[in-house]
Parts: sequence; C-alpha cells; structure tokens
Amino acid sequence: MKIFNEYILIDSPSDMSQYVGRFAPSPSGPLHFGSLVTALASYLQAKSQQGRWLLRIEDIDPPREIKGASKNILRCLEAHHLFWDEDVTYQSTRSALYEQTLHGLMEQGHTYACQCTRAELSELANGNVCGCAESPSLTQNTAIKFKHLDPILEFQDGLLGTQTFDKSAIPAQFSLKRKDGLYAYQLAVVVDDIQQGITEVARGADLLDATVFQLALYKALQVSAPSFMHFPVVVTSSGKKLSKQNHAKAIDVKQVNHNLCDALAFLGMTVPKSCRTETPQNIIAWAVERWDLRQITAKTARIDNRIGGLDSI
Ligand SMILES: [Zn+2]
Repeated sequence: MKIFNEYILIDSPSDMSQYVGRFAPSPSGPLHFGSLVTALASYLQAKSQQGRWLLRIEDIDPPREIKGASKNILRCLEAHHLFWDEDVTYQSTRSALYEQTLHGLMEQGHTYACQCTRAELSELANGNVCGCAESPSLTQNTAIKFKHLDPILEFQDGLLGTQTFDKSAIPAQFSLKRKDGLYAYQLAVVVDDIQQGITEVARGADLLDATVFQLALYKALQVSAPSFMHFPVVVTSSGKKLSKQNHAKAIDVKQVNHNLCDALAFLGMTVPKSCRTETPQNIIAWAVERWDLRQITAKTARIDNRIGGLDSI
C-alpha cells in the first residue's frame, strides 16, 4: 500500500497493526558493548511483540565513515543471532527521498537558507533564528535550516515516562541539509522511519533530545509520529558514554555468549549462570520470552560493569 501526502511517498507495511522496530547504527566504527545493548534491546522489544526488526545503516556522513565498518557491524549482529527482517537499508542510497521531502518542506515555508558559520550560530540566543531567515538567497554554500519556532516540548517515552523540555533551551533552527551538501541526521532519520513504517523508535537515551527536533519534522510533514523509547546508555566509570568517538573497545565476536549475557544483565534481566554456555540462538529465545521493560531499572545511564571486571553479574 502506498500513502501519498504532499511531502513523501510512503511504502507502508501491509499490516498497519504490526510492530516495526529498527536498529540504525552509523558505520563510524565497529559495534561496542553500548551499541550491542541498544541493538539487543530494540530487537527484544520488537520480537517480544511478534514484530519486525529492521536494520538501517546510517551512512550519510562519508567523512566520518570507517572503511569496512558496515560489513563488520552486519557480521557482528549475525554472530549474536540478531537477524533483521528485510534487506538492510543504506541511507547513502536514499538521497532522492531526502531531497523530495526537503523540497516539500521548502515549498511549505518551513525552511530557510543559512550561510552562518558554526561560531556565529553558537552566539545566537535560543529561541532566535539568524538574519538569513529574512533573505531567502540560495547559493552553493548555504545550509538549509528548519524554522523551529514552535517546538514540541513534551512527549511520552515508553520507558522514561513524560519528557518535558524548556523552550529556552531549544534552538530555533536546525539543519536539514548541510553547507557541504550532505543531508542532516534529523531529516534522514525521520524520512526513513516514516518510509519504513517504523511504529516505535527504540534507541539509546543519548538521542532523547533529538526527539524534540524529530517530532517537529513529523508535525511539519503532517505524518503521525511513532512511539519513542529510550534505553539507558552504557557509560564508563568516569561517566562518559561508550562511543565509537571515544574509542570504545570493539565487541569480541569470540565471546558471543558472554556479550549477550552481559548485555541482558545490563538491561536488568536476571541471567542464570548456565546461560553463558548456551548457544546464542537459545540465549536470544530465552530473552524474547522473558523481556519485560519493568526490569530496566536504570534510567538514562548505567556503568558498564565489564570495565570494572567482567563476569561481575
Ligand atoms: Zn544564518
């Protein structure tokens, strides 16, 4: 079935009532323990509801891409018995869709062209748009910004409950297309989630704030937003989020059972010792059956016990 509104042609799932979730890593490095936790949590959230789980590689930022990382991520997920339900979607192949949506937003007056530098924008008080909004000139060296003058300041998070934001802390604009011609994260994510029929975005709490921007895009595009759920992220003992940028250790695919058991324990599950000698297939099946959000007691971050000592569960 295809749905068409003035912005975007949507291939909606044939069964609208089915849960569709996704995991959407960027290929800026191998999966680390934190990204495995997010992958596993979103997988269990989908599979415990007989839903589909899609995989999307967010490769819209070639300068940040590490050669071979996409393949490596796919192999790592497979090794952990986390199999996706459709062909992998690569954002790098979807420029036409982003451009089409961007044009719809431009025509409806939701955007403006901006030539400001990052430094100039950082001096701008929240709630204000830069002077470029008054002069609609489009040159080669302009970013396309979304006029974020009426932000949505509250949403229900499936795990964290009501989330509220202070308007004074929300920028009055954000990028849809960058000066260098690359599509911005917020635009690509929203277009893909709509087009892939995602019913719930289940991801790490580091992206909690991004939800405000994405909800504004759903509203401008006149498409109902999916539900949102943000899982606790893994942080180091010094409080830093494990990330590819801070060179978190790559997942060791020779320790699949331990990785899965550690990730399940992180998500609040009581994992029996015998689990560590089970096949990945059995561990996943066990977890799908027992997945219960009420077990997740950490809110937005939790220390990675593996750093202090493996097998401390
Ligand atoms: Zn500007």
